[in-house]
Amino acid sequence: MSSRFSPYDLVSSGLSRLRPYDPGKPLEELEREYGISDAIKAASNENPLGASPRVVNLIKKRVNGIHRYPDGSGYDLKKELAVRHHVGTDQICLGNGSNDVLDLLARVFVKPGQVGVISRHAFIVYYLSLVYTHAEIRVVEAKDFGHDVEAMTKAVDENTAIMFFANPNNPTGTWLRESELRRMLSRVPPEVIVVIDEAYAEYIKEPQYPDCTQWLPDYPNLVVTRTFSKIFGLAGLRIGYSVSSPEINDLMNRVRQPFNCSSLAMAAAIAALEDEEHTERSRQLNREQMQYLSNGFSQLQFETIESVGNFLCVDMNRPAMPAYEYLLRCGVITRPIGGYEMPNYLRVSVGTEAENARVIEAFERLKDSAVI
Ligand SMILES: *Cc1c(COP(=O)(O)O)cnc(C)c1O
Repeated sequence: MSSRFSPYDLVSSGLSRLRPYDPGKPLEELEREYGISDAIKAASNENPLGASPRVVNLIKKRVNGIHRYPDGSGYDLKKELAVRHHVGTDQICLGNGSNDVLDLLARVFVKPGQVGVISRHAFIVYYLSLVYTHAEIRVVEAKDFGHDVEAMTKAVDENTAIMFFANPNNPTGTWLRESELRRMLSRVPPEVIVVIDEAYAEYIKEPQYPDCTQWLPDYPNLVVTRTFSKIFGLAGLRIGYSVSSPEINDLMNRVRQPFNCSSLAMAAAIAALEDEEHTERSRQLNREQMQYLSNGFSQLQFETIESVGNFLCVDMNRPAMPAYEYLLRCGVITRPIGGYEMPNYLRVSVGTEAENARVIEAFERLKDSAVI
């Protein structure tokens, strides 16, 4: 065997250039490295209230059954979701988080050399999923940090297989109106799969914000994804889903791993859907605390990008890493988003009232420090 053998030479150039996904810093790691005991994680858009107490109780009960394989068809959860979205159970594909479903869509619908259209600053998983399929990735310039739907529509050509839209987008919190998405869907040829990722839909009450799961009868190429990681507070269990035509769903199910969702995750998801009070409380808290945070940043003269999610991008007006490090030493974990081509910004997730007060206090100390 040649001593110069390197497995890196065996993979596509897209893959060899790829850096592994950089998740938010875990609390335990910060506490270990900096000797802090009461750190706050505002880095991963999790529900600061946690999961519904009903979920926690249910999991305790179901724990005895974990030696059994889960129901690979996800019958019970799909039944609940079908009622909720007024679709058939044969239109729902469950995933190990919605990232799993996004990845499935790229694997199913993109042939090597075909094009995937995404926006600058879009959720990174679309890019990653496309790299794995050896697609040509067409990144369309953003407009005021949001997706430029018109330009993305124009970027579609006969080689285009798939487009991804985040509504709202993470990390920018920008969102797309019903009218612009309708217009796009009426112009994109049906041979192009259009994915609309609604990971934060449950937080949003804007009249112009569409629930695209209701549009499936109009557009056979539309796929809408949702997750239990955000308002439902199940990020650690990994469960999400897509809604699409039965045909698209059938193709996805051919590629899906047979037991991609755990029994506890599926049971928890049902309990989370049922606890509407907890969802409402989470939505309410987010609304109030988003207001608190954006006022706080504005008083400190930090500009933010207006967001309808449970997170906010703060402009540091210079490379943000020193500020990120300073905030870590204050016990506050934010998310640097240089990987999203926004090196001057930190993304801050909305927490509880007490957590957000600590966040603003830390930014205040940052302001007074020599760091910025
Ligand atoms: C958090 C998030 C998801 C959810 O990912 P999961 O795999 O379901 O945890 C999907 N899309 C966007 C835009 C997100 O921010």
